[in-house]
Amino acid sequence: MIKSLLIANRGEIACRVIRTARELGIRTVAVYSDADAQALHVQEADEAVHIGPAPTRESYLVGEKIIAAAKQTGAEGIHPGYGFLSENAAFAQAVMDAGIVWVGPNPDSITAMGLKDAAKKLMAEAKVPVTPGYMGEDQSPGVLADEAGKVGYPVLIKAVAGGGGKGMRLVESEDDFADALQSCKREAASSFGNDHVLIEKYIASPRHIEVQVFGDKHGNVVHLFERDCSLQRRHQKVIEEAPAPGMDSDTREALCAAAVRAAKAVDYVGAGTIEFIADGSGKLSADKIWFMEMNTRLQVEHPVTEEITGVDLVEWQLRVASGEPLPMSQEDLTIDGWAMEARLYAEDPAKGFLPSIGKLDLLQFGEADGGRIDTGVYEGAEVSPHYDPMIAKVIAWGEDRSEARERLGDMLADSAVWPVKTNASFLVKALQHPDFAAGNVDTGLIGRDGEEMAEPPVPSDDVLQAAADALVPATDMAGFRLNAAPQRAAWFLLDGEKVEVDLTGMGTDEPATGVLVTEQGQAWLLTPWRQDAAHGAADGSGAIVAPMPGKVISVEVEKGDAVIKGQKLLTLEAMKMEHTLTAPFDGTVAELNASAGAQVQVDALLVMIEESE
Ligand code: ADP
Ligand code: ADP
Ligand code: MG
Repeated sequence: MIKSLLIANRGEIACRVIRTARELGIRTVAVYSDADAQALHVQEADEAVHIGPAPTRESYLVGEKIIAAAKQTGAEGIHPGYGFLSENAAFAQAVMDAGIVWVGPNPDSITAMGLKDAAKKLMAEAKVPVTPGYMGEDQSPGVLADEAGKVGYPVLIKAVAGGGGKGMRLVESEDDFADALQSCKREAASSFGNDHVLIEKYIASPRHIEVQVFGDKHGNVVHLFERDCSLQRRHQKVIEEAPAPGMDSDTREALCAAAVRAAKAVDYVGAGTIEFIADGSGKLSADKIWFMEMNTRLQVEHPVTEEITGVDLVEWQLRVASGEPLPMSQEDLTIDGWAMEARLYAEDPAKGFLPSIGKLDLLQFGEADGGRIDTGVYEGAEVSPHYDPMIAKVIAWGEDRSEARERLGDMLADSAVWPVKTNASFLVKALQHPDFAAGNVDTGLIGRDGEEMAEPPVPSDDVLQAAADALVPATDMAGFRLNAAPQRAAWFLLDGEKVEVDLTGMGTDEPATGVLVTEQGQAWLLTPWRQDAAHGAADGSGAIVAPMPGKVISVEVEKGDAVIKGQKLLTLEAMKMEHTLTAPFDGTVAELNASAGAQVQVDALLVMIEESE
């Protein structure tokens, strides 16, 4: 077994690999960019090497820097995680050429499965059923249009080098084909540097079912059953589970046997996933499931397989890479219960799922029996604009599907993140969707019904009233105490938006300046409303403070400038809204503590205006 390992990745997957390596007594080396100096994976590794600026092209994607870091630290092996260089055959080869153990498949296997068209041809030869379509060399628009006609509409145009849901176009009829082809090729050329496409029959009511496979260096290949990743948004996975709902044992056996044939056809070593598309319009059956592509790496959703099999897939990867045979035979592998995973993202469903970047001032995960959190961040860490904004994978195991689903829903609803926005409430609503609950999921579910799931949640009256009570001085409420319960409404700011709350309590002797309200996986800051807070100094002095946490987007003045009453001083962006702070009176900028781009806390002193004599 190797004794030291460099992890050529970041975020949750780097932390995940470090955890198992540590359990096996392997020394771990992290790599990090400028943006990740404080990242969790850097803190958790035994050692860390800086590899460059934040952009991935200058750090995590530069193979030479990573190999140099491994040599410098004496790391015996390199684990690529997923994404980044994990499916880069040239990098895998360079690692091996440098005398370092590559924790992944042979470069030849990666290459064979790297392009979707070549992979499909190879699979057809290995008697693995493939999605019907055209995967020829001739890329002239006329030929492609003819072939699309033969396949029969609707069809899917796919970039052969595509991935992550990019470079795909659904075409409903012949009239739309030429335009769709052009835009698909354009996207493919710019994203993947290869504009070749294939044409596939678009499967109605498609379900995404994939099989985890594992090979060793002694020619053994096993499968670890299937996962269902049909709940998708724009061809990207949202919730994954294992096993697949409605899978009977005959179908499973046929599907998994095909997956093992696929892996053997490329002499596969290590962890891999064979992705299939299934016709989900009726009962699952082996003659209605087709090979789509192979991912030659550990998959984001690997934990659901771990939870139902009890296997640590990263441990297997490290053993196999070290030359050991597979720890278990096919007969020893069984399914126990059900597992479900949700990808918790720093994004705002109400704003088109835009990434929500910034500091995680509050980060709380729900807990449950059989619950597991795979994360790469901590409270106080930053969600960086440079990388995938995933906060965590929330995973729940249960005796059966409904138990796993309910536990996952509870864990998500009990999570709270602030001020960064997350998709937690979207996920909770997706889990509660009647079709999802019944196991009737096709990849179009969110496209059809997602709008309602994306609606921003609002805190209930009860939690708002309790929070408001902690902000109001008891003395303010005194006059209302004559009768039994005080009845009065007051204005507050909820994440910067004015809201009216009925005061139902007695107030407090020690009023807080702000209270975090948490519910439905969301969090909001409730603060007292001050009429002039967003416009300038609140207390008549020249102190301009941040009315809420946010980001300075522009500063209009310099220290020493003379300003007149009402003049714009700076603009703060908070909760995706812009707030202009202005001078409360004529004077001079005596102090300036703000610069464009800076993140500021609530009540931070930004500008001090000295009044003119
Ligand atoms: P697929 O979309 O083929 O099913 P996965 O869902 O397993 O693939 O996600 C892998 C994708 O995640 C990569 O293709 C990449 O776009 C993205 N990614 C790459 N590196 C990271 C990372 N360190 N953290 C999160 N996501 C990443
Ligand atoms: P990527 O490389 O982005 O992972 P895939 O080929 O794996 O691309 O497809 C991603 C998703 O697109 C699938 O999970 C499925 O939802 C949808 N999809 C792919 N092929 C088809 C098809 N032939 N018919 C219907 N949907 C498909
Ligand atoms: Mg895929």
